[in-house]
Amino acid sequence: MKIAVIGTGYVGLVAGACLAEHGNRVMCVDKDLRKLATLNAGEMPIFEPGLEELVRRNRAEDRLCFTPDLTGSVRAADIVFIAVGTPQGEDGSADLQHVLAVAREIGRSIDKYTVIVDKSTVPVGTAGTVRANIAAETTTAFSVVSNPEFMKQGAAVEDFMKPDRVVIGVAPGDEPAAAAMRELYAPFTRTGAPIMVMDTASAELCKYAANAILATRISFMNEIANACEQMGADVDHVRKAIGADRRIGASFLFPGIGYGGSCFPKDVQALLRSASDRGYDFRILRAVEEVNQHQKSRLVEKMLAYFDDLEGRTIALWGLAFKPRTDDMREAPAITIIRELLRRGAHVRAYDPEAGRTARQIFGDDVTICAKGYDALVDADALAVVTEWNEFREPDFKRMRALLKNPVIFDGRNIYSPDQMRALGFDYFSMGRSAGLEFTAQPAVASFAAEDAGGKATPAARPGNSFTKRTLGPRFPERSLPRG
Ligand code: NAD
Repeated sequence: MKIAVIGTGYVGLVAGACLAEHGNRVMCVDKDLRKLATLNAGEMPIFEPGLEELVRRNRAEDRLCFTPDLTGSVRAADIVFIAVGTPQGEDGSADLQHVLAVAREIGRSIDKYTVIVDKSTVPVGTAGTVRANIAAETTTAFSVVSNPEFMKQGAAVEDFMKPDRVVIGVAPGDEPAAAAMRELYAPFTRTGAPIMVMDTASAELCKYAANAILATRISFMNEIANACEQMGADVDHVRKAIGADRRIGASFLFPGIGYGGSCFPKDVQALLRSASDRGYDFRILRAVEEVNQHQKSRLVEKMLAYFDDLEGRTIALWGLAFKPRTDDMREAPAITIIRELLRRGAHVRAYDPEAGRTARQIFGDDVTICAKGYDALVDADALAVVTEWNEFREPDFKRMRALLKNPVIFDGRNIYSPDQMRALGFDYFSMGRSAGLEFTAQPAVASFAAEDAGGKATPAARPGNSFTKRTLGPRFPERSLPRG
């Protein structure tokens, strides 16, 4: 088939390359001329495992090209995908300006029956709005299909090539569009993954519901981890025990420092907003979001409880991307952590295997971005593990001890064993494993934001926050070294 993909970002580029890999002729369109020049020079604008090879091979075979020519590409295509961004608008809703601008341009371009597929994540009802915007520009027949994308950054190629399911929303009775989509996805679902055809509203809601339940699991486990710290339990035991229950399952039960990325935060907000626009108060999602905001501050709270004051301290960060195997820092917890450290007068030396360039664009000279992980540790007062890249899992701990001014690790991803850290002589604080500081009460939600007006505050003095260091004594034997 001949396919046009409008928007060559994480989703459009992966979808385009994967569709070409199965023999389709794919034209990836973007208005970002720099991105197109990068791609046409054989370079990659983003890091995504396996993508570069796929792009190179399919360009060489003339099945994949990159162009700013929307009209020409749409006219040449049987199926047109819309894969532009739907960022969070000021009121939390999904900003549809790019989707609708593209819809109108498609309407001005089509000159034969075309299937137009919305792959961007869009609120319920958008298929109808897209249809109206196209119809306002043309009398040519067309179909609008909703085909939400469930790929995970870091494993996007694999997810697209072997999806768990393909969701296709069509207008009632639009069998030609459903048939075209079934044919397109047949090679991707040979191993039995279902192609689910439904109405467009249900298809649009599927994507939000999927992200909302995943975000809910994360926030729930973060609350359990925080409760473990209060109650002297170990979240690893709790996680494994509940994960063994087949009704619950083991995935997405790891506590951490909150979710980020280009999808969960904005999609949770957009679903909340869509619901409230229809007079429905989505209470669970409000709590999910609130817990997540707080959780992003949790690691700095632990540092404050340990050091009392971060002024003049140097904190090394391992990991900047919102998750491993991507260079994406959109809504990354690292951003909240770094901003808070800088605000409190700390210096930050950070390392990430892929996101260094992105971090430089965000923080400029305010943060020292190191070329190697061990460089970040030089003369640092502590290390904070922020993203669970594999290369951080088995480091040379002796070398780390030698480089750090104090052998202190704040592990936001629980990648090390508290027992091992204790044996190696580190002061080690992780999430929900009671192996470190205890807190007498929950810090107020968004506590840092509340301080903004009043400047710097110690943990105990923080408004609405009864977060205090309870003990560092024998109950916490891994607290073996003097504080630096
Ligand atoms: P992105 O910001 O990486 O890419 C969007 C691209 O669209 C950009 O290159 C931009 O230049 C281009 N664009 C915008 N307006 C255009 C126009 N008028 N003409 C041509 N190109 C235009 O976005 P993304 O992360 O790929 O996300 C795209 C959509 O897919 C969003 O709705 C997102 O929620 C959804 N989604 C993203 C992921 C993910 O992991 N990133 C996963 C599933 C779904």
